[in-house]
Amino acid sequence: MTEITGRIHSIQSLGALDGPGIRFVIFMQGCPLRCGCCHNPDTWDFNAGMEYTPSELVNKAVRYKEYFGKEGGITVSGGEPLMQAEFVKKLFDLCHKENINTCLDTSGCILNDNVKKLLEVTDRVLLDVKYTSDELYRNHVGCKMESVIDFLDYVNSKQIPVTLRQVIIPTLNDNEENIVKLKDISNNYPCIDKTELLAFRKICQVKYDKMGKEFPFADIPEPTQKKIEGLNNLLK
Ligand code: SF4
Repeated sequence: MTEITGRIHSIQSLGALDGPGIRFVIFMQGCPLRCGCCHNPDTWDFNAGMEYTPSELVNKAVRYKEYFGKEGGITVSGGEPLMQAEFVKKLFDLCHKENINTCLDTSGCILNDNVKKLLEVTDRVLLDVKYTSDELYRNHVGCKMESVIDFLDYVNSKQIPVTLRQVIIPTLNDNEENIVKLKDISNNYPCIDKTELLAFRKICQVKYDKMGKEFPFADIPEPTQKKIEGLNNLLK
């Protein structure tokens, strides 16, 4: 039987920002959402990217195994990895055979049978909760917040450790009310053992320019370090 293939945008051999420890990061091609803050608009198109089989990727990842240490491993990010859940499940199966830890970086917008199977072999979920308001989700992401909460409910029921992440975007979610809601989510779900606030960055403007697309948040300033520190203090 021919091995399933996945569409990959790019690979980062040794990443330190996407999950615990040092990680081999695979960015999947294709995303159904349209976040105004998206810094990877070049991952949106489902037909672009390169095709790989799970074995081809794991063969690459094992070369870096010595750098992973106790905490590191593989992270699949995107784009939206849940759109290729069957492929990522096969990839994670092979990772486990090689004793490589698996991490899934997702918006959590989809929950179907293939996603549930994928979660069976996922060691940690990095859940990007974009906002804590359904209105902001509908206006600036393109899905209901309820879908993300349904995903989180399921992950929690399976006791998979979750790192909650949110990009802080001035004027939209850089306020106390949002942080209080984020804290509530974290307190209500025992699976969440870490919450990370990330600063909105505009370095991606060049990608939008190159693609001839408008960067929806071009006029929003980047948050100051002081602002992020203040919000982090509220989270404690
Ligand atoms: S989910 Fe990620 S890749 Fe998709 S639009 Fe949002 S930020 Fe971009």
